[in-house]
Amino acid sequence: MPHSDIVSRLVPSADIFVGGEWKRGRGALYASVYPADGSVNAETTTADPDDAREAIEAADIAWRKPDWSGLKPHQRALILYRIADLIMAKHEALAQLQRLDNGKPIGETRVLVASAANTFRYFAACLETLDEEVTPSRGDYLTMSVHEPIGVIAAITPWNSPIASDAQKLAPALAAGNAVVLKPAEVTPLVSLALARICEEAGVPKGVLSVLPGKGSVIGDVLVRHPLVKKVSFTGGTEVGRGIARIAAEKLMPVSLELGGKSPTMVFEDADLDHAVNGVLYGIFSSSGEACIAGSRLFVQRSIYSDFIKRLTENARQLRVGDPASEDTQMGPLITAKHRESVERYVALGLEEGGRLLCGGERPVGNDREQGFFYQPTILEGLSNSARICQEEIFGPVLVAMPFDDEASLIEEANDSVFGLAAGIWTRDYKRAWRVARAIEAGTVWINTYKLFSISTPFSGWKESGMGREKGRLGIREYMQQKSLYWGLNDAPLAWAN
Ligand code: NAD
Repeated sequence: MPHSDIVSRLVPSADIFVGGEWKRGRGALYASVYPADGSVNAETTTADPDDAREAIEAADIAWRKPDWSGLKPHQRALILYRIADLIMAKHEALAQLQRLDNGKPIGETRVLVASAANTFRYFAACLETLDEEVTPSRGDYLTMSVHEPIGVIAAITPWNSPIASDAQKLAPALAAGNAVVLKPAEVTPLVSLALARICEEAGVPKGVLSVLPGKGSVIGDVLVRHPLVKKVSFTGGTEVGRGIARIAAEKLMPVSLELGGKSPTMVFEDADLDHAVNGVLYGIFSSSGEACIAGSRLFVQRSIYSDFIKRLTENARQLRVGDPASEDTQMGPLITAKHRESVERYVALGLEEGGRLLCGGERPVGNDREQGFFYQPTILEGLSNSARICQEEIFGPVLVAMPFDDEASLIEEANDSVFGLAAGIWTRDYKRAWRVARAIEAGTVWINTYKLFSISTPFSGWKESGMGREKGRLGIREYMQQKSLYWGLNDAPLAWAN
């Protein structure tokens, strides 16, 4: 099917979604490009600052109305269940759209679309089952702790898994009775617009959701600074996140930040090596390494280092890099030509720093890959953890392998990073796994597995990988404000004024 047909089935032609209206954005035209061959999927309009202000003002009116924040939790939950059902009804079309939007293999985008539906279902279920509290009374009064919506939420998402990261913010924020102005990454506007259409069809009232494709430094900035925006939920790079936190500090506005990573994977000599080889490859090379939780620093116990690296390298060379539409492709292209150049510069830097290339380090040729932004799975060794390519996030298919001698020095090196997003441990010794997992400074640690995700388990970054939590039953509370109620039960007037 031509790309334009896949797009037009789900996204109204060139329009953006402002305050419940589909209309042409007043910003520049943007051509969405298929990273696998550089062809244009569709031209969309983008928002300008006036569109952003209009969306925010509409949101501020819409969330307060009885047909949204005034709904009982089980009533609002019904709309979220409907969103999930509509996502699943359009599952294949959305997966194909996301493939075009960011070049991920179709096998991966199908999983992401299903996970977005699960996220809406999960938060619908949380919404109708979360209790509020009657706290222990300390006198002739009753005390309660209740939770209210925050108001207008700006949700700002990156390009690497748009439908999943959009859902992770939209579902809990809408469940909590807020309005959301969503700004997807500039390069991946399509799936977010398709999601807006689904939310509209499911009965999300007019104005409660807007989707504003456009430049982060322009539209994102307007959203963050606007006085009617009462919370920003951001997923993206650490430097952009830091800038948002500064503005939030001035406004005294809560902010959730899911940021970058440089996650260590640790393989001990007693590990099941078949599992570890597969897990390490999956951890770094799936999604072409364009994953915040990519296991990009590999520490292998010295006694098995050479054998393990040999197996790993042989298997990395066999990975199928190519057409994202093909069912058996393991790695698609990188998102843009510019991003591939940045990955290439990091590999060149690693070599200048003294690294040795074990595989990859180049663009693949043949099978029509020259027009796309492909890059081979790349492994380097011979560097220390202090090298720049071990300390900075590359966000591509580049792994640096290092040997380690003992647990203490391993933990020190693994934690020697400004990031603290995730880690992987491969060992059969459960006591060691426990010790290392507890000592690692990261929000998520996988033991004898990697990159598994469950919506019912919280996700957060430590150190410069973020602030705040997403997912899990209490993920919905990130989009609510707590309020205490005191009910006087004494028959006599308060004594003080007598
Ligand atoms: P990015 O920070 O460049 O952009 C993220 C979003 O912020 C985009 O929508 C962008 O347009 C917007 N933005 C850019 N400048 C802005 C500004 N000044 N004000 C407001 N918004 C602005 O990140 P990216 O390149 O899209 O994504 C890659 C990064 O995202 C990586 O660092 C990756 O680790 C991180 N990431 C983190 C997680 C996580 O959960 N921790 C998940 C996915 C991606």
